[in-house]
Amino acid sequence: RNAGLGAWPARRATISPGRTALVFEGQRISYAEVHERVVRLAGRLREAGVERGDRVAYLGPNHPSAVETMFATHLLGAIFVPLNFRLTAPEVDYMLAHSGAKLLVYGPSCATTVQALSTAPMLVGLVDKYEGWLVDNAGPVPDVPVGLDDAALILYTSGTTGRPKGAVLTHGNLVWNCFNLLVGVDVGGDEVGLIGAPLFHVAALNQCLLPTFLKGGTSVIMPAWDVDRALELIEEQRVTWMFGVAAMFAALTRSPRWAGADLSSVRSVMSGGAAIPPALITAYLERGLTFCQGYGMTETAPGATFLEARESLAHVGSAGVPVFFADVRCVRPDLSDTDVGEPGEVLVRGPNVTPGYWDDPQATASAFADGGWFRSGDVAVVDDGGHFHIVDRLKDMYVSGGENVYPAEVEAAIFEHPDVAEAAVVGVRDELWGEVGRAFVVPVAGRRIDAAGLRAFLGDKLARYKLPVYVDTVEQLPRTGSNKVRKAPLRAMPLNAEM
Ligand code: ATP
Ligand code: MG
Repeated sequence: RNAGLGAWPARRATISPGRTALVFEGQRISYAEVHERVVRLAGRLREAGVERGDRVAYLGPNHPSAVETMFATHLLGAIFVPLNFRLTAPEVDYMLAHSGAKLLVYGPSCATTVQALSTAPMLVGLVDKYEGWLVDNAGPVPDVPVGLDDAALILYTSGTTGRPKGAVLTHGNLVWNCFNLLVGVDVGGDEVGLIGAPLFHVAALNQCLLPTFLKGGTSVIMPAWDVDRALELIEEQRVTWMFGVAAMFAALTRSPRWAGADLSSVRSVMSGGAAIPPALITAYLERGLTFCQGYGMTETAPGATFLEARESLAHVGSAGVPVFFADVRCVRPDLSDTDVGEPGEVLVRGPNVTPGYWDDPQATASAFADGGWFRSGDVAVVDDGGHFHIVDRLKDMYVSGGENVYPAEVEAAIFEHPDVAEAAVVGVRDELWGEVGRAFVVPVAGRRIDAAGLRAFLGDKLARYKLPVYVDTVEQLPRTGSNKVRKAPLRAMPLNAEM
């Protein structure tokens, strides 16, 4: 029996065949249609030689075919590997070779990348082969037994701190994450989720699309994130919830349409994946929108802590408490528990936690502490009510004159300046202090930021040793496919260089 996600379309098609599962560019696809297409596709994949345990990769912007390919792959007990379509051919080659993908489904906008590949999986182009495949029924789909401990996805991490790692997520990991999310958010069968973040990333897929699908709601899939289009879709489709990262929520508030947009259908917006400045959360709360925050990572499928919307006013800036079905602790370097208010590394253990990285026993071994605790590499403090406040990544912390500085705190303070649209801070070497802060700021369109003025503004908010010594105005920040700031290129930037 298939106990994995491959069985979901059939179940939903029995319960709610006529309801709309997916909306994409004016096209509405019902649960019955998703089911029918998934079965046909699985038959074709089977004919092409895909068997239990094989890897099937997907390269393309958000599209219903990504969801169909995932479920069809799972129906066969195979493993789905969604890839970031913005990667270069050598980067895609690395992931295809590392995952040993047998077949690659790709979108038309990725044809050039695909032509430049040196790995050679079987290729299925979306416009030609894929759609052609689905015209007629293929052979019968074999009944493949799939257990909750079988691998469902290999998801490459965002690559914020280095080369992306291939985290394995089992069917059970995904199901437990859905349960954790459903405990925190009242997702209903009439839910309309807006998928504006990329589906190759864990959050859009597991925090929005899969729970919506499980409950029989509708997912409105955007091919690419676009602020004005998002506001249009919210009004047109009566969107009830959406997931986004801080950069997306900030962009929404800066749109000229924001003030006049009808957001009355929206029940909750959910942010995660990166720190979100409290000033930004307040902008949403003032608009009457509930705002939930979560903290997590690819390896925890992704939810680790969650702040329910009805708690958000009382705990602005906190990433919440451990999700229902997982244990989360904060520890010192010797793995003893930290005291209230003391920064420490976040450890996670639970049924949503990855069994490890694909074909990388070394990375897997070093990711777990004794007792099966996954080491997040993130620093948090826990307050006396048990709420987690994510401080920053261990790797981004720097030491200035013997004091630890967490760039995220400095960034949140910079963000309060009205002329700042985006900000990132890194530590750079300094003869006197060991390291000092260097801030990169993107001004709001039409504004200028001068270093002395910004430092004076921060002087009231931050201790002296946290003030960035260098301030560079830039047009944009280097970001990952999941819209997170990549700090390594910023650290490597020569001082006073032209950007
Ligand atoms: P890589 O592991 O390849 O360097 P990554 O860690 O950014 O990339 P993801 O799994 O997408 O890849 O992101 C997880 C990380 O995102 C967490 O470890 C944490 O650093 C950050 N993060 C997630 N949610 C939050 C949050 N609410 N507040 C602050 N940081 C967060
Ligand atoms: Mg990571």
